[in-house]
Amino acid sequence: MNRETKRVKIAPIEGTLDAEVILPGSKSLTNRALIIAALARGTTILEGVGLSDDTEAMLAALQAIGVRVSIEGTTVTLDSSNGLSAPEAPLDARMSGTTARFLVPLIAAAGGGEVTAHAQMRGRPMKDLADALRALGVRVDGDALPLVVSGRVNGSSVSIAPGVTSQFISALLLSAPAYPDGLDLHLDGAAVSRPYIEMTVGVMRTFGADVDVRSDRIVVSPGGYAARRYAIEPDASTASYPLAAAALVGGRVTILGLGSASLQGDAEFARRVLEPMGVSVYVDPYQIEVRGSGVLDAIDVDLADMSDTAPTFAALAAKACGTSRATGIGFIREGKESDRVDNPVTELSRLGISASVDPDGFSITGGSHHHAAVETYEDHRMAMSLALLGLVESPVTILDPGCSAKTFPGYWEMLDRLRSTARSRPRVLAIDGPAGSGKSTVAKRLSTLLRLPHLDTGATYRAVTLAVLRSGVAIDDHESVAQAARGATIVVGPSTVTVDDVDVTSAIREPDVTSAVSTVAANPGVRIVLAEAQRQWARARGAAVLEGRDIGTAVFPDATLKVYLHASVEERAQRRAAETGDTDVESMAKAIATRDHLDMTRESDPLTVASDAVVVDSTSMSIDDVVSTIEALWEEQG
Ligand code: C5P
Repeated sequence: MNRETKRVKIAPIEGTLDAEVILPGSKSLTNRALIIAALARGTTILEGVGLSDDTEAMLAALQAIGVRVSIEGTTVTLDSSNGLSAPEAPLDARMSGTTARFLVPLIAAAGGGEVTAHAQMRGRPMKDLADALRALGVRVDGDALPLVVSGRVNGSSVSIAPGVTSQFISALLLSAPAYPDGLDLHLDGAAVSRPYIEMTVGVMRTFGADVDVRSDRIVVSPGGYAARRYAIEPDASTASYPLAAAALVGGRVTILGLGSASLQGDAEFARRVLEPMGVSVYVDPYQIEVRGSGVLDAIDVDLADMSDTAPTFAALAAKACGTSRATGIGFIREGKESDRVDNPVTELSRLGISASVDPDGFSITGGSHHHAAVETYEDHRMAMSLALLGLVESPVTILDPGCSAKTFPGYWEMLDRLRSTARSRPRVLAIDGPAGSGKSTVAKRLSTLLRLPHLDTGATYRAVTLAVLRSGVAIDDHESVAQAARGATIVVGPSTVTVDDVDVTSAIREPDVTSAVSTVAANPGVRIVLAEAQRQWARARGAAVLEGRDIGTAVFPDATLKVYLHASVEERAQRRAAETGDTDVESMAKAIATRDHLDMTRESDPLTVASDAVVVDSTSMSIDDVVSTIEALWEEQG
């Protein structure tokens, strides 16, 4: 999009998302790695760099102090073997907080100079950082930008009150290995955004720095950094937008290259915010996948450690059922690009959402919004988060959308790409429940009555289990079992099941499969593969009945109708005994109870009642009654 575009209207998406997203490199990690590269001996190669206004400001400043920079695509090579020199002209941090703050201690190591910035940044706090450098023997003129730094560091011990922004601490730490005696930094109180400090320390250590972190003190040894090749992770704060889009619109979004191995605190957004709101979340070391239904629960959440995601949370809260509260974020009213407590409240109110400012956050009551043009306050996160609301229900017009270029110039194209993946929702009748509750019989009868194709998803888990047992792989060898699931071609037909073209219809009902299936089904890798196959199966048919354990909770959280079929263990054991001719009802009941327990307590998509499911207790109902009850519910859905 043209930077000069004055407004962009975001229209609702029809259908559900189904996208893999590759995001630009983390701005926070990029700017940290750039400072380190400037101080490292030798040539540093950074891959996956997020090039944006903020990181370009940093690169230009580094060139001005003698670092040679070459850029090819998203790979940036930096060479500072000629040493750093004082800049001739003021270094311009533009609107970038990290650039301004990280540069000030760096130029103290480079022999001095001036750091200036865009008017918006000049109003943001710098004083505690200037004072800390003064305590280290550096002369700093001014308490806000522009700041003039002269003289060199000749001390190592300093205290800082870490309450305003953790960027001051990160700034001091990053340049500390270049100081003659390193740094002994005392934290005078609880640090805000502690994960950002941990991120700083993580990158420093990767480049060979010796950093000792204690609760109230961080000690950095002198000795510089070792240059290296380093891959920047995708930006976790930015990931909150496409993840929230899946939660709001419904459907799947997977962020590639970012997962539980991340150094970024905001990578926790999916687990700490989306999951409690009712979104299905799957995280492995290198990817985050969420599946939303478009229905969100209101939550209270302390965002002190992930405050950059507060505007994203505001957009989600505006659509949640009930009142949500964000706490612990009083400090983001200053120090950020704009007041991120007051501004989301003002703009959501403009859209017709009830929202108010609290002493340390905001409260937002989910509801309908109407179309309006919203202000973005030259704040990229305001623009990107408010746009999310336009994806559902009514459009939202974003004024000054170009401000997203601060961290993510390609944001609007990414939203277009998400839109292009939207598929129309299949009409799904989801029947979940424990073993022996009558699901299969009922689902088959409904399939005939309603003329809908039927899938017994339990058969898919049984088929994988059989394939695993036959291959000789140990059923608790997670990786190999998941691989077997990926490799097997399973076809569940109306009356037969095949695995790799071999008929296994009766083999999958044998006792060895029955006793192993719940262990195999608890394997998250297996669940991902089978759930996706089940979704594709239903999508290809447009409408279907699916029975299983997690259809309404994980496979199709946006199912047209969710039924949870229940019956007492005794009744289910009696039914199974009648089916199989086995007279030992007691052992049958025990086996059923064990399988229930495994299915209900596993971590990944356990058997639970979806909050919007209709519970049908079939203990003392005839099959005919159960079928006609569900048939009537389906007819009601139109
Ligand atoms: O329905 P059935 O008893 O054939 O399912 C066999 C097993 O497959 C269940 O006990 C459960 O462990 C697993 N399963 C599942 N999710 C489904 C369907 C079945 O985990 N959607």
